[in-house]
Amino acid sequence: MESQRKHARSFSFEFFPPRDEAGRTKLRETVAQLRQLRPRFFSCTFGAGGSTREGTYDTVKELQDQGLKAAPHLTCIGTSREFIRELLQAYAALGIDRLVALRGDLPSGLPNTGGDFRYATELVEFVRSETGDRFAIEVAAYPEFHPEAASAEDDLEHFASKVRAGADSALTQYFYNADAYFRFVDECESRGIDIPIVPGIMPITNYKQLARFSDRCGAEIPRWIRKRLESYGDDLESVRAFGLDVTTELCDRLLRAGAPGLHFYTLNRAGPSCIVWERLGL
Ligand code: FAD
Repeated sequence: MESQRKHARSFSFEFFPPRDEAGRTKLRETVAQLRQLRPRFFSCTFGAGGSTREGTYDTVKELQDQGLKAAPHLTCIGTSREFIRELLQAYAALGIDRLVALRGDLPSGLPNTGGDFRYATELVEFVRSETGDRFAIEVAAYPEFHPEAASAEDDLEHFASKVRAGADSALTQYFYNADAYFRFVDECESRGIDIPIVPGIMPITNYKQLARFSDRCGAEIPRWIRKRLESYGDDLESVRAFGLDVTTELCDRLLRAGAPGLHFYTLNRAGPSCIVWERLGL
């Protein structure tokens, strides 16, 4: 963890583009609360294949218009160079200076029309070749390894290739095993990777939803956490109380060990992140 300690801490919050007016109103309330915490940036996800192109653009524009720093996610699977070029120009015109560059997963049902990119590394290379250092580039990292990776070694090598292509920092998939993160960071360090690797934090508030997400993205819910959460059944208050305790303890341990900040998956809600933030005394 030594290489991580030297980086300035970065705190950030992730949103998804709201789907309707009620969602937009709710997100505005969330932003009003979270901006008080003065994060480095707010990021907004992007549907693979460009499916939320307008929603992501409108969300980051609204944030930038309020004088906040927004970082749009950009996924490349199923898209063309021209499509990405146009988005880069649109984001530069908005004054955006940070992107989260990803491969993405095409949802079943969306046709994979081939596209010009296969992996996030190619997107990072493309952004650098088109726009030089105009944008800071964040990439994804997987302390418990990406579900499609053939081996841990391969996944580390692919992560290293994103860094060589020009990534400035990384945001991790969420995890509840702090040791997986520490080991991942140490292995990156021994490969000479010294960009900040900021832990992604998913506050636990809803077990069924968390289990669904985790099945999809390969994040492990440790057995002792799963068993406890299952035992609360429909007692949502207890799920939330236990979940926020576990989340706070995880964040505390990560920060004490030298993690260079935290990136919260907010699901467009301020409450859980604010509670963890307050308890950490940030
Ligand atoms: P990559 O880095 O390209 O890796 C994908 C897989 O390919 C890995 O298994 C890797 O080991 C392997 N690989 C990489 N290069 C090679 C190579 N040269 N040869 C063989 N194998 C290779 N998804 C969205 O759709 N929208 C979002 O907004 C979004 N935001 C995210 C934010 C964060 C912080 C994280 C962690 C994930 C996010 N995702 C998002 C999910 C992400 O798109 C998926 O996890 C996706 O499956 C992988 O994306 P990646 O950028 O990590 O891909």
